[in-house]
Amino acid sequence: MENLSEENQISPDYVRISMAAAIELGLKPGQISGCRCNCINLLQNYPQGCYANCTYCGLARERPGAAEDNSFIRVAWPLFPTDLVAEKIGELEKSKGVGRVCVAQVQDHRANRDLIDMTSRVRSKAPEVPISALVTATLLNEDWLKQIQDAGADIIGVGLDAASEEVFYETRGKGTKGPHDWKKHWKIVLKAREMFGPMKVNCHLIVGLGETDEDLVEMFHLLKSEQIAAYLFSFNPEPGTVMENAPRVPIARTRRIQLVKNLIESHDLKEEAIEFDDNGAIRSIDAPLELLDRVTNQGVAFMTDGCPDRQGEMACNRPYGSYRPGEEFRDYPFLPQASDLEVIRGEMKLDEVTKTEASAVA
Ligand code: SF4
Ligand code: SF4
Repeated sequence: MENLSEENQISPDYVRISMAAAIELGLKPGQISGCRCNCINLLQNYPQGCYANCTYCGLARERPGAAEDNSFIRVAWPLFPTDLVAEKIGELEKSKGVGRVCVAQVQDHRANRDLIDMTSRVRSKAPEVPISALVTATLLNEDWLKQIQDAGADIIGVGLDAASEEVFYETRGKGTKGPHDWKKHWKIVLKAREMFGPMKVNCHLIVGLGETDEDLVEMFHLLKSEQIAAYLFSFNPEPGTVMENAPRVPIARTRRIQLVKNLIESHDLKEEAIEFDDNGAIRSIDAPLELLDRVTNQGVAFMTDGCPDRQGEMACNRPYGSYRPGEEFRDYPFLPQASDLEVIRGEMKLDEVTKTEASAVA
């Protein structure tokens, strides 16, 4: 009966929230170790999960099992009445403040209307809280974007996920009998950028769907030039999905991509500073060792990145988006400390791709 009742508890009246958010709102007992959950992540709930068919996603239409048996990003997303969640957000906002709320869409014919409804319910209980809409670009047009903005969202997140058109086709588009289209996604990303402003639009990107380092580096430069944020995930195979047996990328690759992203975004590393081998993997990074050392030691490059709070500090750290509890951190939901940095340096093996013989960060 549990499953039956969950089937009836659909958006906009019901919403899934991340376990960390449920704990933070006092809706579930427990403690969140390692970080403060400063973003309340909400996810639409429909009986079929999602009508798209992304090969790596536990909510995809053709994965085995019912939607409620699949954990979307590895930890349970319990279901609550939307009005109760909105009320708890309002209370938390009054007592100690909420960094940000995120309302995530799935592919469903009701999803646009419900996103606006759910955003408005949060807005009515917490008039000042910043709200991100993590949208399904396939469903949108300019008019819907405007309605999402009017309902109170100040940031649009787009799950682009794939860093190249080819990988997008194979993992999310026609190649997997999915509805998503690369060009349509870009149209919405650029329209949202025009409407919401610089750094008010972001693209989620996953390292490890089959793209090359070169694809990712090109994407970081493109997004930077458009003043669109790039938020990185690291592929982690979800049981029951098409990609359940696909290998994760070596941790050295993840670390180098994180470092290079930070160098491009915050230190203007030029395109010509990175050389790639015939497979599109980073062969060398031409940057002063002092800079590589400094950026590594700052640790920020290896932190989870996500939408900011009102002070501009990262609010959404998407805990466990890239690794399971108990596994090594792919991205850190806190600033890595000295012992973490030692681990990171060992994993990154930067001396293999720096231009000089001895790396100062080794
Ligand atoms: S659109 Fe999003 S929720 Fe739906 S299958 Fe693809 S990644 Fe999963
Ligand atoms: S970074 Fe977090 S808050 Fe921002 S759109 Fe993505 S999931 Fe939502």
